[in-house]
Amino acid sequence: MKVEKIKVSKIDQIDFDNLNFGSVFTDHMFSCDYIDGEWVNAQISPYKPISISPSARVFHYGQACFEGMKAFKDNKNKNWLFRPLDNYERILKSSIRLAMPEFPKELFFESLKKLIELDNAWIKPGLGNSLYIRPFIFASEDSINATEANQYKFMIICAPADSYYSGDVRVKIEKSFSRAAKGGVGYAKAAGNYAAQFYPTILARNEGYQQIIWTDSSNHEYIEEAGTMNLFFRIGDKLITAPTSDSILDGITRKSIIQIAKDQGINIEVRPIKVNEIIEAAKNNSLKEIFGSGTAVVVLPIIGFGYENEKFELPRIESPWSILLKSKLNDIQYNISEDPHGWRTEA
Ligand SMILES: *Cc1c(COP(=O)(O)O)cnc(C)c1O
Repeated sequence: MKVEKIKVSKIDQIDFDNLNFGSVFTDHMFSCDYIDGEWVNAQISPYKPISISPSARVFHYGQACFEGMKAFKDNKNKNWLFRPLDNYERILKSSIRLAMPEFPKELFFESLKKLIELDNAWIKPGLGNSLYIRPFIFASEDSINATEANQYKFMIICAPADSYYSGDVRVKIEKSFSRAAKGGVGYAKAAGNYAAQFYPTILARNEGYQQIIWTDSSNHEYIEEAGTMNLFFRIGDKLITAPTSDSILDGITRKSIIQIAKDQGINIEVRPIKVNEIIEAAKNNSLKEIFGSGTAVVVLPIIGFGYENEKFELPRIESPWSILLKSKLNDIQYNISEDPHGWRTEA
């Protein structure tokens, strides 16, 4: 792997107290090309624009997928990755579904390690601070022939992140549009899945919601996920989340929260959730909490939702599970507590 270091770091120009998530990037990036059946030109270089042909297939057919993962700094200045192998395995799964070549595992981990070493100063200590890492792969071949490409680019860019704060979040349970369908690409972190969500989300925003709860594309009868987050519902003393499927993404935060809930003795059920069950629970006051889980937000409480023409507000309860589960997860991520499931890797 070729490494070209930045001459002068731009870190002094960054206001770490006012980071706008995903808009500031570190000094270095990784890139690698897939040409003639081989991954070549693996290199770390200063973060900078790249040059691609206007006929690159990614622009025309959306052949692209990505990952989102984080590195955390503990109070002894050591950096930790959280379940990175799961991200690696998921980008392979996404790549296979999108007819893209598998990126080699050794190179994935070698480039992560080197990037974290070079951009170490960008990973700030303190709860809430982290380095958001974005690996992605796209069809770079310059030909608009509508088939899978022969050339790809794999890259990793990194953005410093602080605690996610989005204010009060209310969501709309969607009845017309769908995020993903059976047999589709919903389980993959396909770039196009996001593009398809923007328009319905704008409509929901105009109705006063920040995000959408997607339901199954056949009858809009079952809850799926929020599109960047998986969802948990607390009804009475039970925590419920939908099983993953080909239209629900297998979130790493989701499965970690399920495990931590079990460790905490919380009664957790993984089973299909009917929209009606949530509406009824809201009406008879047994619906105590809704929260989302995802790498960027970790755990995000949702305080209200809308369905058809009705709006529901959740009660403000004492000691919510969302806060408990988030803090237990953070304790593992920041090397504050034991790591009983072997989720942390020193980077
Ligand atoms: C990335 C993603 C999530 C969250 O997954 P994590 O591994 O927890 O970050 C949930 N839903 C969709 C559609 C996603 O792309």
